[in-house]
Amino acid sequence: MIPESHVLRQTPGWQQLLGAAITDPAELLSRLGLGPEWLAPARAAARRFPLRVPAGFVARMRRGDPHDPLLRQVLPLAEECLAAAGYTRDPVGDLSARRAPGLLQKYAGRVLLTATGACAVHCRYCFRRHFPYGDENASADHFRAALEEIAADASIREVILSGGDPLTLSDRRLREFSDVLAGIAHVERLRLHTRLPVVLPERIDTGLIDWLRSLSVPVVIVIHANHPNELDETVATGLGLLRAEGATLLNQSVLLKGVNDNPGALIALSEHLFALGVLPYYLHQLDRVEGAAHFEVEDAAARQLHDELRHRLPGYLVPRLVREVEGAPAKQSL
Ligand SMILES: *Cc1c(COP(=O)(O)O)cnc(C)c1O
Ligand code: SF4
Repeated sequence: MIPESHVLRQTPGWQQLLGAAITDPAELLSRLGLGPEWLAPARAAARRFPLRVPAGFVARMRRGDPHDPLLRQVLPLAEECLAAAGYTRDPVGDLSARRAPGLLQKYAGRVLLTATGACAVHCRYCFRRHFPYGDENASADHFRAALEEIAADASIREVILSGGDPLTLSDRRLREFSDVLAGIAHVERLRLHTRLPVVLPERIDTGLIDWLRSLSVPVVIVIHANHPNELDETVATGLGLLRAEGATLLNQSVLLKGVNDNPGALIALSEHLFALGVLPYYLHQLDRVEGAAHFEVEDAAARQLHDELRHRLPGYLVPRLVREVEGAPAKQSL
C-alpha cells in the first residue's frame, strides 16, 4: 500500500478528470440539452459497453444537436443492439495473434502491448469493445512475461504501447515499463497509440513530459482524432508540449458514417492536424465488430472520399485508407 499522503501528492489533475468522466447517459443528455427519447436506448446499449466520456470532450460538442459528430462517437444508440451479418466479437483476429498475455504480433519487427484495458473514452465503434481485457491486461503480472518475450526475440525493433489507452497508466507505471525496455538493446523505437491527447489533454503534464524526456529511444505518438471539432485549444497546448520533446506525432482516424464521411470534415481534419504539428497516418475502414454496423461506410464510397482528399490536399496530408485483414502481413490498402 502507498501511504495516503503520498497518493495525494502524486495525484495530478488528469487522474481526477479521468475519474470524473461522464458514465451516466442521463447526465450526458442533460449537459447537451437533449430530450428524454435518447435515454432508454442509451441505457440499453450502455449495458453492453458502458458510456464513458470526459467532460472536456463533451464541452466541444454542440448543444441540442443529436447528430453532433463528437457525440455520435460516444452516445450509445439502439442500433448497437441489432445483430448484423459479418459483425463479430473479435473482428481483427487479436486472440490468434497473441504471443504472451497482453502481447500481440501481427507484423514483422513490431509488437503491440495492450498495456491496460482502461480508456478515458469509450468509442462506440471500438473493435476492442468485446476484448477480454480482464485476462489480457499486461500491466498486471503479465507485464513481465511480455517483456521477457520481447527481450528474447531480437527481430522485434519496435514496441507499441496500446490498450485500452496506455496513457491512462500512471507515470510511475510508464517508467517501470520503460526502465525494463531500456535494457533491451534491439528495441529501437517506442510507439504509443493513445487517444488521451485528444480526449483528456490534461494528461500531458510535467510528469509525463519528464517521462518522455527520460526515454532512451525515439518515441512515436499516434493520436486518434476523427473530426476537426475534436481539436480545440487544450489539445493544441498538449500537442505543442509533446512536439517540444521531439516526439514524432501522427494521427489515425476511423472512417465513420455520420461522423466524418464527408470530404469537408476530413480535409479540415488534416489541415488542423498539420497546424498542430501532427501528420495524418491512417484512415481506417471500420473493423466489423458487433454493435458497430451502423457506422460502416461502403468501400466504394470510402475510395471516392479518399480520391477527393488526394485531389484536394498535398500528398503528405492524405492519410492512407486501410483495412485490417486477419492474417495479412500489413494493414491492407483499399
Ligand atoms: C495496427 C497494428 C500495428 C501497427 O501497424 P503499423 O502499420 O506499423 O502502424 C502493429 N501491431 C498490431 C497487432 C496492429 O494491429
Ligand atoms: S480510445 Fe481507442 S481503444 Fe479506447 S475505446 Fe476508443 S478506439 Fe477503443
